Amino acid sequence: MSRALRVAVIGSGPSGMYAADALVGQTDVPVTVDVIDKLPVPFGLVRYGVAPDHHSIRSVRDTLDKILDKPGVRFIGDLEVGSDISVAELHQYFDAVIFTYGASRDRRLGIPGEDLAGSVAATDFVAWYCGHPEADRAEFESLVPSATAAVVVGVGNVAVDVTRVLGKTVAELNDTDMPQHVFDTLDKSGITDIYVLGRRGPAQATFTTKELKELGELADADVIIDPAVMELDAFSAEQAASDKATARNVEVMREWSTRTPSGKRRRIHMHFFARPVELTGDDRVRQVVVERTALDATGGASGTGELYTVDADFVVRSVGYRGTALDEVPFDSGKNVIPSADGRVQRDGVTVPSEYVAGWIKRGPTGIIGTNKKCAVGTVASLIEDVSANLLPAAPRGTIEEFDARIADLETVDTAGWRSIDRAERALGESAGRARTSLHTEAGMLAASKG
Ligand SMILES: Cc1cc2nc3c(=O)[nH]c(=O)nc-3n(C[C@H](O)[C@H](O)[C@H](O)COP(=O)(O)OP(=O)(O)OC[C@H]3O[C@@H](n4cnc5c(N)ncnc54)[C@H](O)[C@@H]3O)c2cc1C
Repeated sequence: MSRALRVAVIGSGPSGMYAADALVGQTDVPVTVDVIDKLPVPFGLVRYGVAPDHHSIRSVRDTLDKILDKPGVRFIGDLEVGSDISVAELHQYFDAVIFTYGASRDRRLGIPGEDLAGSVAATDFVAWYCGHPEADRAEFESLVPSATAAVVVGVGNVAVDVTRVLGKTVAELNDTDMPQHVFDTLDKSGITDIYVLGRRGPAQATFTTKELKELGELADADVIIDPAVMELDAFSAEQAASDKATARNVEVMREWSTRTPSGKRRRIHMHFFARPVELTGDDRVRQVVVERTALDATGGASGTGELYTVDADFVVRSVGYRGTALDEVPFDSGKNVIPSADGRVQRDGVTVPSEYVAGWIKRGPTGIIGTNKKCAVGTVASLIEDVSANLLPAAPRGTIEEFDARIADLETVDTAGWRSIDRAERALGESAGRARTSLHTEAGMLAASKG
């Protein structure tokens, strides 16, 4: 090919950024990459998922940001594929497309009352406290100050993040980049009790020990666990004996179960072998009906039929994220991923030419940020292999200048625009004695992008 290969990467989360890095980092084929995102700002869940008080993990964005400075990489923000431009159109201008648009919707519990006011998906609550421009600010500004008790359903790291944010004082969150209205709303929270429900036992919880431990170190929240639940059944004891991470979690929770609550303003109650079967209420959720469970022979949870209720007027359902389909692109609606083989998109078991996939929309919502690097590098290796084997279709009809002209009328944000937003966020933070405060409206971001 006499010119550089042109690749469009759809989504600027870790998988998209690592894919761009791998593309311009290899030396077999000259490449230019446009990293397209529907938001005016890059980095996906590193900005809108990773907890704002986890500074070292959030700082991954500085590493990702450096990729945008590499020759051949452009950022095009505020361009939504599927509505502003179609995948078919992208194929007119790019030799290959890599889907890295993540898995941003919530999984449902599938129980009566799930849609009562006051019952929210963790995806939405996390988006709100991270300042996502699509978050429903009015909903949380109404729900959080009027809530007295919360139930968090789930025992993964996202559930721990949510519990910690609800359990912390605003002083403990003060050094984060949360928007001011989030501080103000959390400051008015009337929540005194937070119940964390896990449908299996403490040995089966999927949180990591470091994140778990933080719950026991909050300034104004005691953690409460029934000591009886820490007497492990044979299956769980075997699990703890054979897996160090499980053993560490069990040790932390066993220590908590011996603590006497010190009278702090909030209490975090860890309930295991507990699955919600119904939310009840009137104008909003008031109670969660919980069924006690027991482990079956394979470590799964079976209902015992024994019910109890928890009074709660705020319920956060944290049972996982899921991917959604993009028009024209093959989708496995059972696994909620784009079907692929070695990163090559598959339709009915046949490779779709010049379409690739990486990250959560390829593997599902699992793994840490670094997992996406290996995943993206693997996908890029397949793409480069296909180019070298002349397997990509004939060159696209449109030039990159024609692509730029196509999107010229849309208000997009380039790398320089993102840098302006970045500067504006740092300046806003500085004015409040913080390192950064996130801009939280699309209009505000677009205005800042123009310097
Ligand atoms: C609440 C939460 C906390 C987490 N905490 C940690 C942690 O502490 N440590 C850790 O290692 N991992 C953590 N993770 C996991 C980590 O964030 C993911 O592994 C990672 O972000 C997945 O990367 P991705 O690029 O596949 O998707 P994403 O990060 O979701 O990026 C997808 C991007 O695609 C864009 N997009 C979506 N649709 C379109 C479209 N139609 N057109 C254009 N762009 C589009 C989105 O705006 C987004 O920027 C956490 C995840 C969550 C949800």
